[in-house]
Amino acid sequence: MPRRKFSPLIPSLAALVLASCAVSSFDPATGEVRASAPSSSLVAQGLQEFEKMKRQKRVSTNATYNAQVQRVADRLKSVISIPNARWEFVVFEDSTPNAFALPGGKVGVHTGLFQITRNDAGLAAVLGHEIAHVVLNHSQQRVNQATGVAVGTILLDTILASQGADGTTRAVAATGAAAAGTLGVVLPYSRKAELESDKLGALYMARAGYDPEEAVRLWERFAEWRAQQGQGSSPEFLRTHPLDQTRIGALREFLPVAQREYRPR
Ligand SMILES: [Zn+2]
Repeated sequence: MPRRKFSPLIPSLAALVLASCAVSSFDPATGEVRASAPSSSLVAQGLQEFEKMKRQKRVSTNATYNAQVQRVADRLKSVISIPNARWEFVVFEDSTPNAFALPGGKVGVHTGLFQITRNDAGLAAVLGHEIAHVVLNHSQQRVNQATGVAVGTILLDTILASQGADGTTRAVAATGAAAAGTLGVVLPYSRKAELESDKLGALYMARAGYDPEEAVRLWERFAEWRAQQGQGSSPEFLRTHPLDQTRIGALREFLPVAQREYRPR
């Protein structure tokens, strides 16, 4: 643990029609976001994949988890407006502490995540991070970067897999995908995209009335959890993860900006 799981969804995402698109941007100094809309084909794919996941994975009926996710999501949604988002937050039975977002605003949370998030603010940090990926249209960037790779891609955010530097992670992920007998290449978000989402996510939390400092504690708990998982089964880039500290450091540096917008509710 953590074991990398390669979803059977990958092949169905093959042969994406790639459209050029405007680039989204986020200025961490001012908190200003310029969001570009994802291509309609990407949104359609996101929606379609999410429906498929809901059929294929077990949706959690845990009342506490579901209530917490809807409560936190509602507050976050109240501070975000992007065109064409059809936000939906679903809890899946899966013991890996992970969450993901698909284009169009579909967000999945694993039941295994709650051991790390622990409280509403911790969950808000993760959901804010996922929402930020959607708002900043990172999937589109990833797909655009994949042009020429000409194979399937996966649009899920794997929090645990997203730590490595681009090239390394991608190579390891591709090897893993091959080993898992799946087609396609797993393209994690770039490190830049992850750092950006950490910051914008913290800003969203603050605007929604959650102390953004909890985002730092959340990532620290993630790092701790990972350290406890033993070294043997995880790929090299997860075994030595100085990037955890880089990531936490970058977020900590950003905290004053987020704190300025924090109004406890
Ligand atoms: Zn992410």
